[in-house]
Amino acid sequence: MDLKQHIRHVPDFPKAGILFYDITTLLRDPAGFRATVDQLAAPYRDRPIDAVVGIESRGFILGAAVAQTLGAGFVPIRKPGKLPSATLQESYALEYGTDALEIHEDAVDAGQRVLIVDDVLATGGTAAAAAQLVKRAGGELIGLAFLIELTFLNGKEKLPGEQVFSVLHY
Ligand code: AMP
Repeated sequence: MDLKQHIRHVPDFPKAGILFYDITTLLRDPAGFRATVDQLAAPYRDRPIDAVVGIESRGFILGAAVAQTLGAGFVPIRKPGKLPSATLQESYALEYGTDALEIHEDAVDAGQRVLIVDDVLATGGTAAAAAQLVKRAGGELIGLAFLIELTFLNGKEKLPGEQVFSVLHY
């Protein structure tokens, strides 16, 4: 199955100059969704993962499915103000300004083995903030898994020392 064939490219979304990788066309295909989750989970099948952390919002779809596949729990990382209990927050730089992400402070037990999942690794700011949150919460970060890595944006440079796996590269 060629997953790339099922990913729609939308120019100038959400703003001019951005080529958006739309995975809704992949997820709606039953075999495509199955193959996506299988390939994302494959490197971790023989390594114990306690929790999969998904980043809002497409990371929820992929992360929850990977968690089920690996027999792990699921933990959400969300935009500020969405999680109801006490949170840890991490800010990160955007092209213009800053943004932030939150995790429940009790979402990960000390030493739990955590895998972070998201759809796209672009500049890496989002993933780096998520990695910090997992560590501050007490988790052992085993790795980060992405469906798509935009290699020309060098997002991996923001994740030094981390194990990064991407199914597809552009
Ligand atoms: P970044 O922090 O730059 O690595 O951006 C990563 C986040 O933005 C991910 O959660 C992606 O869902 C989203 N994202 C960034 N660039 C794109 C793109 N070209 N197409 C689709 N999603 C993107």
